[in-house]
Amino acid sequence: QVCRDDFLHALEHDIKPAFGASAEALEHFLARGIITWGPPVSGILEDGTLLTQQARVADAFGLVSVLIEGPPNSGKTALAAMLAKNSDFPFVKVCSPEDMVGFTETAKCLQIRKIFDDAYRSQLSCILVDNIERLLDYGSIGPRYSNLTLQALLVLLKKQPPKGKKLLVLCTSSRKQVLEEMEMLSAFTAVLHVPNLSQPEELITVLEQFDLFTKQDIHKIYNQISGHKVFIGIKKLLALIDMARQMDPKVRVIKFLTKMEEEGCLDLGTMIH
Ligand code: ATP
Ligand code: MG
Repeated sequence: QVCRDDFLHALEHDIKPAFGASAEALEHFLARGIITWGPPVSGILEDGTLLTQQARVADAFGLVSVLIEGPPNSGKTALAAMLAKNSDFPFVKVCSPEDMVGFTETAKCLQIRKIFDDAYRSQLSCILVDNIERLLDYGSIGPRYSNLTLQALLVLLKKQPPKGKKLLVLCTSSRKQVLEEMEMLSAFTAVLHVPNLSQPEELITVLEQFDLFTKQDIHKIYNQISGHKVFIGIKKLLALIDMARQMDPKVRVIKFLTKMEEEGCLDLGTMIH
């Protein structure tokens, strides 16, 4: 006999197809996986997991909102998607500026509002708001932004879901300072910082994940960069690795290091030998 509990259980655990497109959106962000290049990555995943668990059990407050911030290309969106995926919440929705290109301010606010309204209907939902400053049309030249969208988001970030419903909001941004000025930071339950790779050893850990460089190559790279400053986002590093794949293996190491220097991701201070 099917009773109400079975129905509710099914609603929560089995009914996914309607929101299948969101799961695909997450996969798209995670296509290249997550490489644990150092303690910051495991730290973010651990803290993030605790927060998602908090969202799941919290009885007094049904809302947990997390800002995942860090420099451009540091891997914010992928980490947010990973946390959303691991949360295993049945309703996951992505709210991304890419999906709202050409929207008027009002249309954008309505769309954001709709995503939250849909989420409130589900027992456990997770919303990934990607690239908040772009969503707010923030431009670094002559700071201007959409105040309407900002106000809408601020309200939604503070609004408790209906009684008994749980909502996890994961936001990403490269502009923590700007959000601070907009008085948005205080709306978050927690802020997780995603750093760039900054140690030569971290860079080597990533290179070792690919079969692109030989053991000797990696040794050579390590000797060159050891003791020098490295500062590169994982997304940029993966792009440079893709580029290196196209290079002649004989000059690959030198070209790769030169490229890193040119892009300002590595300071060797001298010419590369
Ligand atoms: P942007 O500033 O343009 O928004 P971003 O910081 O959001 O960039 P992502 O779009 O998340 O960066 O790109 C990170 C890429 O690196 C993804 O393709 C992801 O699969 C891959 N990746 C590998 N290891 C990691 C890691 N430890 N953390 C995050 N991303 C990783
Ligand atoms: Mg991003």
